Amino acid sequence: MTRPLRWTALRWTGIGLAAVALSFVLVGWWHWRDRPDPASLGIPEATSLPGEGGVTLTWLGVTTLLIDDGETRLLSDGFFSRPGLLEVLLDRPVAPDLAGIEAALSAAGISRVAAVMPVHSHYDHAMDSGEVARRTGAVVVGSESTANAARGAGLAEERIVVLPEGGTRRFGRFEVTWVVSRHWPLTGDGAPPMPGAIEEPLVPPAPVSAWREGGSYSIHVAHPAGSLLIQGSAGYRSGALQGLGADVVVLGIGGLTRSGPEHARRYWREIVETTGARRVLPVHYDDFTRPYGEIRAFPRRLDDLETSLRWLAGFADEAAQPVALERLVFARPVRLF
Ligand SMILES: [Zn+2]
Repeated sequence: MTRPLRWTALRWTGIGLAAVALSFVLVGWWHWRDRPDPASLGIPEATSLPGEGGVTLTWLGVTTLLIDDGETRLLSDGFFSRPGLLEVLLDRPVAPDLAGIEAALSAAGISRVAAVMPVHSHYDHAMDSGEVARRTGAVVVGSESTANAARGAGLAEERIVVLPEGGTRRFGRFEVTWVVSRHWPLTGDGAPPMPGAIEEPLVPPAPVSAWREGGSYSIHVAHPAGSLLIQGSAGYRSGALQGLGADVVVLGIGGLTRSGPEHARRYWREIVETTGARRVLPVHYDDFTRPYGEIRAFPRRLDDLETSLRWLAGFADEAAQPVALERLVFARPVRLF
């Protein structure tokens, strides 16, 4: 009798363990699927100013933004390849998706670009910058790490501008100023994810972790019609933007809920209040492991878009001057000024 009893006990233990494992999988799956819908969080779509001319802004996911005054085009980041979740999690070698880049540029009607401007050198910003610049005749402007990513993509040296301390460059009627900033802090001491620099030309395929942060910028775009600040990552350098006014801020909010409301408040003060912007357009909340063109928020457990937007709406409400918080729609140009 003992033998069958032992087998019965073993079998029930096995069934119990399988049930526990299955419930972990189901709970994990549920959390992974639990993502707020950006369109139903009470933030109105960004509207175009009526009329002709001026400057349009087109959001192409993460922090890729096309800025166009009808004569000159600027592109932040130019990230279209979007390696999938497994490539990223397992840190497998990835390379720019050349057909995907071509299709994205053509769908957005992008042929000539004056400057490609990565906000920092992580792969979700700088991975395609060199390739995009090669195809569009642009220069790539950024850190030494960004330069090494562009060199690895085969971009000629004369088409690379390195601004380690920041600086100003003119493109057509745009005057663009790079201000050294900080990345969103992953750790308590302020370190970004994948810290450090890209020390030599980065020739893909390479694991996504090879695209090191390499220093982050706030990018101020001034035009006779108005001015725009692009803050790609939710970090700041106290006082760095003093004296730089902007009508509109494009605000990277990736990771904001993980750093807590106090960080978010300081971030808002440093970026939005300092520039005096009256219009704030959040970006970098879409899961960049999803295919290009898909705008899906991150799972709530990783970074809750609903909470981030509630905080920002609260800061906007408390502002002395009215500040409009608006949602950019993928690939839809908005005439800013
Ligand atoms: Zn980053």
